[in-house]
Amino acid sequence: MEEKHQVLNLDNAKYGPQRTLVRRAEVAGFGFWTGKDVLLEFLPAPENYGIRFCRTGSDTEPVPALLEFRAEKPHQSSLTDGAVRFDMIEHVLAALAGEQIDNCLVRIDGEEMPGIDGSSRPFSDAVRAAGIQRQNAPRRLRVLREPIRLEGEWGRIEALPSENGEASYRYELDYSRHESAPAALQKQSFEIAFYADGTEPADRLFETEVAPARTFLTSAEAYHLLEMGLCQRVTPRDALVFGPEGPIENTLRYPDECARHKVLDMMGDFSLGGALLIARVRAHCTGHVQNAALLKKILEQTSII
Ligand SMILES: [Zn+2]
Repeated sequence: MEEKHQVLNLDNAKYGPQRTLVRRAEVAGFGFWTGKDVLLEFLPAPENYGIRFCRTGSDTEPVPALLEFRAEKPHQSSLTDGAVRFDMIEHVLAALAGEQIDNCLVRIDGEEMPGIDGSSRPFSDAVRAAGIQRQNAPRRLRVLREPIRLEGEWGRIEALPSENGEASYRYELDYSRHESAPAALQKQSFEIAFYADGTEPADRLFETEVAPARTFLTSAEAYHLLEMGLCQRVTPRDALVFGPEGPIENTLRYPDECARHKVLDMMGDFSLGGALLIARVRAHCTGHVQNAALLKKILEQTSII
């Protein structure tokens, strides 16, 4: 028998009004992939503007952070309108989603977002330091009504309707199928729920539980990238590089930091729906490509309210 899910007592008021920044914020650093120095700015934006990206000094139309502008690029999420592109946007988007910023213009003087420590913390900190401005319009929501599941050799990912109106993400990480996977990358999972039980998220929930989780790779993957001429400026202190014994020249911020980072990536990727997604998203051994594929299905069966 088909499982029936119902979203009960969905009350728009509990999701609060739209939010932007009080003033401009900036984050400087270099792009992990290109090694180029960049300056990123977060600028306040009016109600219903959404998140958009533009290039410093250019007067072309900003590119909305929406799935239809997503560009395929390995191991990262990118946006393009065909003329300008913005790479490695997921940690920036996760910070904005985590801080519940609905409206913001992201301006950057290069193609790739700064990597900093491989987490969302620098972006999240900059937004909070600038201050968060509550606006008047209600938040835009997408409410999932029917379950959607994608499955393949890669793993599986599903979105389930939320019964209490929560927006939640769960990631199950499992490198046990990979030969010579470090023990620290064996099975772990992490789940976080926003708006559960009819309440606004605890003020520092994203900031303390998700934002600091850093991107990671195995030493074999790192050598491969270096051989290809990529990531030349990144050291094991900038991102988590796992050798057989664990992180090289680095220590974990959480025992399950990798699963937390995958949740961070999901929050960034699913924000390309252009609204707060009211659903329970669960993933097992997935990445940006599967996040985008599931979001495409979600957009087909939901509309913004
Ligand atoms: Zn990431």
